[in-house]
Amino acid sequence: MHTPEATLTAIVGPMFSGKTEELMRLIKRAQIVKKRVLVIKSPVDQRDEGHVVTRSLDPSQPGTFIVAGKHPAHTVHDALEFRQLVEAHDPDILAIDETQFFGDWLVEEVSALLEERKGSDFQVIIVGLDMDFMRRPFATVAAFLALANEVVKTSAYCFVCLKPANFTQKNGASKERIEADPGKSSKIYEARCRSCHKIPSDQE
Ligand SMILES: [Zn+2]
Repeated sequence: MHTPEATLTAIVGPMFSGKTEELMRLIKRAQIVKKRVLVIKSPVDQRDEGHVVTRSLDPSQPGTFIVAGKHPAHTVHDALEFRQLVEAHDPDILAIDETQFFGDWLVEEVSALLEERKGSDFQVIIVGLDMDFMRRPFATVAAFLALANEVVKTSAYCFVCLKPANFTQKNGASKERIEADPGKSSKIYEARCRSCHKIPSDQE
């Protein structure tokens, strides 16, 4: 007999590895059977207000990206707002995009939700960068990786040698751990393999 069980899925990898595309695929599949989906994002991510988006290369302008798909998303600032939103929407699936932008409170809130709903089909999907450009884990994402029932690690192609890439290279700009400036990410960041990835202190 099928006993329902609340689950946590983590989809993590470097930039340009199709994490959000994978999330979109799961959302579309769930919507076919009319599951209620709630997507949340952080206020740090100021691109594409009110949506999570996937991008693909613009065929008319090489090297630039265009929006390929989008889904409505709610911006969440803190634990209270998170709880109110979940209560109001009562989702079957709660998806969290760019999870690296959130603080520790999200791990506690999600764990509590899974515990409350453990005898149900409730599903949480977190999507995020597992490491910054220095190859340091993002604490919030690392905690979700430990707690997850299922982990999907996506890889990109290395921008330099086309091998599978698990790291994000940051070219120039600041040493900020996260740079969520609108539209520029396609120029500042690259996916790189272990051989081609350079940590900034190596270069200076
Ligand atoms: Zn490479």
